[in-house]
Amino acid sequence: MSYGALSAEAIQAMNLGAKQGDFYHNTGEGGISSHHLKHGGDLVWQIGTGLFGCRDDNGRFSADDFAKLANLEQVKMIEIKLSQGAKPGHGGVLPKAKITDEIAVIRGISKEHDCVSPPMNPEFSTPLELLSFVSKLRELSGGKPIGIKLCIGNPAEFLCLGKAMIETGVFVDFITVDGAEGGTGAAPVEFSNRLGLMCLEGVYFVNNVLVGLGIRSEIKVIASGKTASGFDIVNKVAFGADMVNAARTFMMSVGCIQSKQCDTNKCPTGIATQDKNRSKAIDVERKAKRVASFQHHTLHSFYELLGAMGLDEVYKLTYNMVKRRTPNGMLESNTHTVPELKTKQLLNDALP
Ligand code: SF4
Repeated sequence: MSYGALSAEAIQAMNLGAKQGDFYHNTGEGGISSHHLKHGGDLVWQIGTGLFGCRDDNGRFSADDFAKLANLEQVKMIEIKLSQGAKPGHGGVLPKAKITDEIAVIRGISKEHDCVSPPMNPEFSTPLELLSFVSKLRELSGGKPIGIKLCIGNPAEFLCLGKAMIETGVFVDFITVDGAEGGTGAAPVEFSNRLGLMCLEGVYFVNNVLVGLGIRSEIKVIASGKTASGFDIVNKVAFGADMVNAARTFMMSVGCIQSKQCDTNKCPTGIATQDKNRSKAIDVERKAKRVASFQHHTLHSFYELLGAMGLDEVYKLTYNMVKRRTPNGMLESNTHTVPELKTKQLLNDALP
């Protein structure tokens, strides 16, 4: 949820809410603005294909600019966005109407036309090149966690990344698995409806591959995609996630009514607009309390569900504890349909 796509007030409300609730705030691909820094909430700096915040005049990676922001105390992790669930294969789009002088400076872009991020990162095109870029960011940031975000499409491509990590000994610190169900009001409908694996399918696949390759302990898995309730967290953790992100529901906590006019600069609630007459409707202090409250109560619900399942630790939640009802009315566990791999099983011939 970038500054540019969202208003300054919405960004501030989310960051202040994150600070009050003691959780992190992902910048989205639009770079780090003064509005992200004003209240001191922890940040995950997302670097998209446009490299906003760390790009030179030719649109290529600028090590100096990256190091300046990455070493800010408030930046806790750095996430390289490969693709997003709402529109895999498309870069982000910021319409010209929403590009203010401030946003043009933060992103290093022109105000004269729409800002369209390229579909792929210009700094790498193979798994080995990606891992080399990860090493570079890790060094420049003083050793901060470096991860990737993607929506799983072709499974073989992810397996190639796993193979490259084993060959080089360079691991990403975390993988954020975005689900195809994730969405913004600005995504092309055909892309948001038809491309990519859903979050649970993607998380299960990624976790299974990392276990099968014997590298699960090196990498945290973060699930991202339509998280709205305590049960959504139960489900995602059971399918293999260590952590869970939520985006759209935090927009709702700030007041989004899902009118899906995010790309028009006429957001009726002042969230997805750069029109000051609209964004001034957001009372930052009041909305921040709602952001923190949504997090608090959703987690409370999660822990209540966990307790009702007889569990006293999150890690005891396993894949086969979540049942589903088949079309013929029978209950079955998830392992019934897709078997779980054992540690390093992908490295030998004993495949299921
Ligand atoms: S209220 Fe509508 S335009 Fe504003 S953020 Fe929500 S979906 Fe987008």
